[in-house]
Amino acid sequence: MTKKESQNIETIAIHAGMEHGSKARSISPPMEPSTNFEHDERGYQEGDYIYTRDSNPNRDQLENVLTKLEKGEGCVAFSSGIAAMNAVFMNVRKGSHILIPEDLYHGSRALLEKFGERWSVEYSSVDTTNLEKFEAAFRSNTKLVILETPSNPLLLITDLKKSIQIAKSKGAKVCVDNTFATPFNTNPIEFGADLVMHSTSKYLGGHSDILGGAIVSAKTDEFFQQIKTIQKSQGAVPSPRDCWLLTRSIRSFPYRMRAHNENARQIAKFLKAHSRVIQVNYPGLKSSAGHEIAASQMKGFGGMISFLIDGDYDETLKIVAGSKVIRRATSLGGIESLWEHRLSSESESSITPENLIRFSVGLEHIDDLIHDLKGALGK
Ligand SMILES: *Cc1c(COP(=O)(O)O)cnc(C)c1O
Repeated sequence: MTKKESQNIETIAIHAGMEHGSKARSISPPMEPSTNFEHDERGYQEGDYIYTRDSNPNRDQLENVLTKLEKGEGCVAFSSGIAAMNAVFMNVRKGSHILIPEDLYHGSRALLEKFGERWSVEYSSVDTTNLEKFEAAFRSNTKLVILETPSNPLLLITDLKKSIQIAKSKGAKVCVDNTFATPFNTNPIEFGADLVMHSTSKYLGGHSDILGGAIVSAKTDEFFQQIKTIQKSQGAVPSPRDCWLLTRSIRSFPYRMRAHNENARQIAKFLKAHSRVIQVNYPGLKSSAGHEIAASQMKGFGGMISFLIDGDYDETLKIVAGSKVIRRATSLGGIESLWEHRLSSESESSITPENLIRFSVGLEHIDDLIHDLKGALGK
């Protein structure tokens, strides 16, 4: 079938990975684990596959579907989300300043803490939900801005359109970590983002069994080509098997995401009314600070919730220990519900409160989840 840009996300997710049909005309694409490819009598020709670190049919399929899901012009897939973020940071010229949100995925912040000085780049963090503070944080050498909305783990909402406008007026590129929102709920490129970053280990993979990352670019410009060069020459590439499995998982992603949105919405409402919970961070709640902005830039509010317990570090850990269906683990975006006492899994510079539980709402029946929550929280 022909693939038009006007197709809807459910159709793109199912068909956009299928361009390289096999001779057998298989419905599911073949996995091509080969590390190298034979050339014809004339030697390798332009566009031929040569070596899997450079390119591989399964990686092409994955990059193709991700490009379309995020409405960009190109995609570069990596072996983890953090390898994707690393490629963006490494691509910034020496002497530049990078502006990051105060509440940023701790591993992304750790990259700059550990390597920023060696790379000779400066960085600083700002509350990106406050546009005045955000604008004031730019320096004459600010070349890159990272945004994350909803943020991890506080679920803070940043106004994409306005903040990207400000960044552009200052001549900085914007990369949005869209792991929490997912391309089902938000397409940052529609709000002017230059780059969209994903940990595909989360909702896109959806089954807690693939580690991966990607950068989708609004334009196949020089910055994008350079990220492609980092992928090929530094070699943090996903295996053909992981690309194949991820492309397979993406076929059901839009429907999984609908269900994550719905289960999380109901759980946020339940938590909000519970006596042991003093605050629920979920952009779908009308009472949440970023609700109106979220409603203007998100189709659904996602499957992630964080909430504060009326209690201390130990009491919070005890609640997390009391679940039977919800499993105690880090990471997110899988079909199974997971929660964790977040501070104990973050680095020391974290601003996460000691009584915060981060909850990745899965696709179990809502009644079973609520029952489990009642047991763990105490009725
Ligand atoms: C998990 C995560 C990452 C890092 O991705 P990995 O695949 O674990 O390397 C980056 N950003 C966010 C928001 C994440 O949740």
